Amino acid sequence: MTMKEYLRNLLTAIAFIGMTPSAMSTNINDNYDKWFCDSTLRVDYIFTGNAKNQRISLDELRSASGWYGRRVNLNKPALRGNGTIKMTDESTGEVIYCTSFSTLFQEWQTTEEAVSNWKSFENIFQLPMPRKNAWVEVILFDTHNNVSSSYKHLVKPNDILIRPIPSTHPAANRILHQGGDSKKCIDIAIVAEGYTAEEQAVFYEDAEKACREILKYAPFSAHKNDFNFTAVALESRESGVSIPHDNLWKETALAASFDTFYSQRYLTTLRLKTLHDALAGIPYEHIIILANTDNYGGGGIYNSYTLSAAHHPLCLPVTVHEFGHSFGGLADEYYYDDQYEQFYFPGIEPWEQNITTLTAFEDKWQDMLPEGTPVPTSADGLDANDMEHIGVYEGGGYQSKGVFRAFMNCRMKTNDTESFCSVCERAIERVIEHHLKPLE
Ligand SMILES: [Zn+2]
Repeated sequence: MTMKEYLRNLLTAIAFIGMTPSAMSTNINDNYDKWFCDSTLRVDYIFTGNAKNQRISLDELRSASGWYGRRVNLNKPALRGNGTIKMTDESTGEVIYCTSFSTLFQEWQTTEEAVSNWKSFENIFQLPMPRKNAWVEVILFDTHNNVSSSYKHLVKPNDILIRPIPSTHPAANRILHQGGDSKKCIDIAIVAEGYTAEEQAVFYEDAEKACREILKYAPFSAHKNDFNFTAVALESRESGVSIPHDNLWKETALAASFDTFYSQRYLTTLRLKTLHDALAGIPYEHIIILANTDNYGGGGIYNSYTLSAAHHPLCLPVTVHEFGHSFGGLADEYYYDDQYEQFYFPGIEPWEQNITTLTAFEDKWQDMLPEGTPVPTSADGLDANDMEHIGVYEGGGYQSKGVFRAFMNCRMKTNDTESFCSVCERAIERVIEHHLKPLE
């Protein structure tokens, strides 16, 4: 051993002895209590813009008792998403929390209407309440993975204008499934939309069915002890939801509506403040809204919410599909032969784990392919419902060309199957683990 090597070894040994257990961890994941209180900081924003421009404005800050998000992997998001929100400790500059999301606003920006109009959309994020001053930065990405907009503001936890969310009078609710302690589990609220006071029993029954259905699917079925589901029976004045293409408008708790962006079966709500206000006092991190209608449709926005029509015969598979979007950050695997609008571009790898443009396929399911599998893979001779043969089949993300998926069928493609494909299962599993297990 040379003197140089000796000194280096000695310094390494001294550094190792001097480390406290928390300093030895490679990230802040084990240190929730060091940085955060057991409470929630709700940040309400307004995203405004058109097809080319956008502005992010802070609407208000709220606080709530309890934190129902993850307490591990704090400073890295599970997926990239179409946007990121990052919290940085003011004094040390350390990133102490980071999460990702997608928004209806960004979807709207790709529509024809956005070419000539400006619109604003509510966006709400729940963050752990920092113990000390922290910068919060929202970053939006465009369809080419570039930063399109960002906004940064300082949050002072002792700011007297952070308005508390009352927790003393929560909406009528019922626990549907208790996997374990909220601090260790993923908490999901199933929320009523378009059910009148007289229809509450119907809602609880619908919510129960949706909860059971999700827990039937792998990988959720193996994680029953990691999820809690609470049904929240919001009352609507009128029964049903708005269906503009039938000139049918209803006064409902969350003002949900079909025909979002003029797409008949796209069922969403734009009233995110109303939604989150209505969940005051309920432990929740993810949201599933059940709409009291037999019209076909739904919507799911990553880390925002799932909305599904509760009384259509295909309600249950649709709910699971939309939850694949809102919880798992999965892309649609279906496509249209006559789709002229482009959502995914050559040379840009989508962040969603279940589709690829073959730009960075090694980050997707390349490792799951049997040796010798041609890339792309021909679908000739395979049944449209085949879920045995993993490959790289062209068609996905609404586009018949340039986007590839792993299986002929999947819950993210049609309603004719009983499961997610194994690529989607692995992607969801990774999101669950990110919530629950500190990564190396
Ligand atoms: Zn899939």
